Amino acid sequence: MSAWLETIRRVEALEDLPLDEVLVAEIERRRARLGARPPIHFFTPTFKAFASSELASCGRNAWPAVSITGGACKLQCDHCKAKILEPMIPATSPEALWRVVNEIVADGARGVLLTGGSNHRNEVEYGPYFPVIRRIKDELPGFRIAVHTALVDGSTARAMEDAGIDVAMMDVIGAQDTITQVYHLRRGVDDFEATLEALTATRMKVVPHIVVGLHYGYLLGEWSALEMVRRHRPDALVLVVVMPFYAPESRPFVTPDTAAVGRFLMDAREALPELPLLLGCARPAGRARVQIDTYAVLAGLDGIAHPSEGTVELAARLERRVRVTPACCSIAVGEDVMALEDTGLELDLEAVLAHERAARAAAAGLGGIRVVAEGAAPTGCGGCAA
Ligand code: SF4
Repeated sequence: MSAWLETIRRVEALEDLPLDEVLVAEIERRRARLGARPPIHFFTPTFKAFASSELASCGRNAWPAVSITGGACKLQCDHCKAKILEPMIPATSPEALWRVVNEIVADGARGVLLTGGSNHRNEVEYGPYFPVIRRIKDELPGFRIAVHTALVDGSTARAMEDAGIDVAMMDVIGAQDTITQVYHLRRGVDDFEATLEALTATRMKVVPHIVVGLHYGYLLGEWSALEMVRRHRPDALVLVVVMPFYAPESRPFVTPDTAAVGRFLMDAREALPELPLLLGCARPAGRARVQIDTYAVLAGLDGIAHPSEGTVELAARLERRVRVTPACCSIAVGEDVMALEDTGLELDLEAVLAHERAARAAAAGLGGIRVVAEGAAPTGCGGCAA
């Protein structure tokens, strides 16, 4: 048994988790070649017990998502069918956006994630909204605006910059078959690279996403997407794993093979050793999620949103410096990815274990702290219920 597998088995929540043991040993070897293990930053509202008064104000209302098309989208991609837009706050005119922003600011929002459905060219038509975005930034300079850009050319990217947008996000797709079949889109891989190039030529923070398993649950263009990111050096890269809840029966998705995902996470770490590399909150639920999170910690990602049970403890046991931000949406909006070293609270293994004992005891309704034998891992991480 490899040393890291032994460490994993000391974490109670992970002691029986099925893992690809060959992959665990391989990641351990590959990580050793990369040298020092970076700190790891967890974004999770379940660590509120550690919150300072400032961090306690973070919460679900801090970074609401607003759609400028409401629930409408012309692309109807096979994994989404525009369902991702449905729970968002609609603001389908510039006037409505001004009103919505003022309402959410009054409700405590510190920023907004602005998105919308695409036209047939995978463009979100933000043009009419740029003057009101400029007005928001002029009147509320501390209010952060992150935008899911979709595909843009150089002039639209510069218009976004001039409007005062803080963070630009886009999905990078590296396989033509995925663009054609999953997105039903007559654009090329080159258009995604040109978008990344245009965005990184501005002063905006650029945080692209790669959706792992986007080709019906299989990995296809992910490595090509990584190469694009490597060529254009954005501020951070967010990796998410496809969750095809809305795929039609005629075009089903499989749950991605978690070992394939884990190996890709290690490939991404090796390809981009200096770039902040984050695992976003979108990933499959249940055992697959725990396996992916475990591989993410081993591979040395810099941040994980909503870690599953056992993940924080594993990181501490692997002697990673552990930081926790008790907020749920920071990766989505991109604020914390810009300042990974300066945000959150630093925890040591004892603090993590104490928190997890208390969380486990509270969840079990024991009304007290569980007694744990010396040297054993008492509990897993509080983790996200998802
Ligand atoms: S373009 Fe975006 S919102 Fe529209 S269906 Fe595709 S993934 Fe969903």
